Amino acid sequence: MVVPGMVDRGTGRVLNSPQLGWKNVDIRDAFSNAAGLPVHVENAPIACALSQLWLGQRGRDVPADFAYVTVGDGVGVGIVVNGEVVRGHANTAGEFGHVPIDLDGPTCLCGARGCLEAYTSNLATLSRYFGQELSPAGLRSMLHSSGLTISDLIARARSGDKRARNAFVETARYLGTGLSMIVNSLNPSQIFVGGEITEIWDQIAPTLQRAIAERALTAAAAATPVVPESASRFPRLRGATALVAAPVYAAPQVA
Ligand SMILES: [Zn+2]
Repeated sequence: MVVPGMVDRGTGRVLNSPQLGWKNVDIRDAFSNAAGLPVHVENAPIACALSQLWLGQRGRDVPADFAYVTVGDGVGVGIVVNGEVVRGHANTAGEFGHVPIDLDGPTCLCGARGCLEAYTSNLATLSRYFGQELSPAGLRSMLHSSGLTISDLIARARSGDKRARNAFVETARYLGTGLSMIVNSLNPSQIFVGGEITEIWDQIAPTLQRAIAERALTAAAAATPVVPESASRFPRLRGATALVAAPVYAAPQVA
């Protein structure tokens, strides 16, 4: 099971999922008992990072140091250093989505104000399009009742709706700022980005790269490749298969 939130892999407990509104929920044992099968639970961005680590594209070396940023209703990061996923002391490493970029910014689903996620999630892009204050906590029901999905908005941007395009470009400016934090703090060899936003990558990539370059501290850091991974590659699902396969093998690369 791949969930949008922080997970304790040892206990299968969801520690905090702002999008689901869950804290300390034990889902592993309940599902395992009901299904009569072993169940693994993992954080979505980490699962995506595992899918790159274990099931990356053929013929391409798997980088030992990279970050995988998922942009959906939330924004999360899976970090790999020296070929290992970084989980942190108590399973909250990689929560760049909740780094504040404006102390007085909109209220995030986590309850704090001005998180990167509140400016860059799909909810933020949709609410920007509607001209609403970027407060996903309050806007979610309105957005759902409008029936407009992020894929619809991408279609509008592609068909020449300037407001739709601008909503994505503004998201890219903030997302690039967020990626510059990852570049400056972890200096990964590359950053993968997953989520619907990759479907409009050609229109947002220049803004995103410029935002990274503005804050990167060296020319090499500014040149960190940012690689979109198409949703059609099902990174979360592939990550889930990696979860089950990973314990079977001793190392991500088999000689
Ligand atoms: Zn937050």
